Amino acid sequence: MNYKNKMNLKFLGVSENESFARLAVASFCSNIGLSLEDLSDIKTAVSEAVTNCIVHAYYDKLGEIEINCVITDSYIQIDIIDNGVGIENVQEAIKPFFTTKPDKERSGMGFTVMEGFMDKMIVKSEINKGTKVTLIKNLKK
Ligand code: ATP
Ligand code: MG
Repeated sequence: MNYKNKMNLKFLGVSENESFARLAVASFCSNIGLSLEDLSDIKTAVSEAVTNCIVHAYYDKLGEIEINCVITDSYIQIDIIDNGVGIENVQEAIKPFFTTKPDKERSGMGFTVMEGFMDKMIVKSEINKGTKVTLIKNLKK
């Protein structure tokens, strides 16, 4: 596959960086003719993924979050990677309303939003190693 563009970001998992990550990815994607709706979908999905890294993966410590982004002729792929606690059962975790933090105003809709707003979502996780969320938006011709 021919990459038209790519970028990598690494930043500390602190809440100030939620908006930084969302805007950095949006800025990177901003001049390839995406509709405002697609751009907004990407911002929302990235926001949910980064928030999950901060509140779940690194709930009791500071850690780094990495974002790898590639643009090809036909899609944008965004990988959001943490080295945090990992997810025990990904199948369960991605279901609507599943949350391990019901007490902390979490509704369990983050993955559902990511899946709905993007064309594809792949979640790979290993306990105590971390989680990688891959988000793909197809580009309309
Ligand atoms: P909401 O996103 O609606 O505030 P939530 O974060 O609990 O609530 P999801 O984003 O759908 O809901 O995530 C579901 C569950 O998956 C979380 O409650 C958490 O247990 C787990 N999870 C998600 N992302 C990660 C991650 N990066 N590391 C570890 N666990 C995660
Ligand atoms: Mg969430």
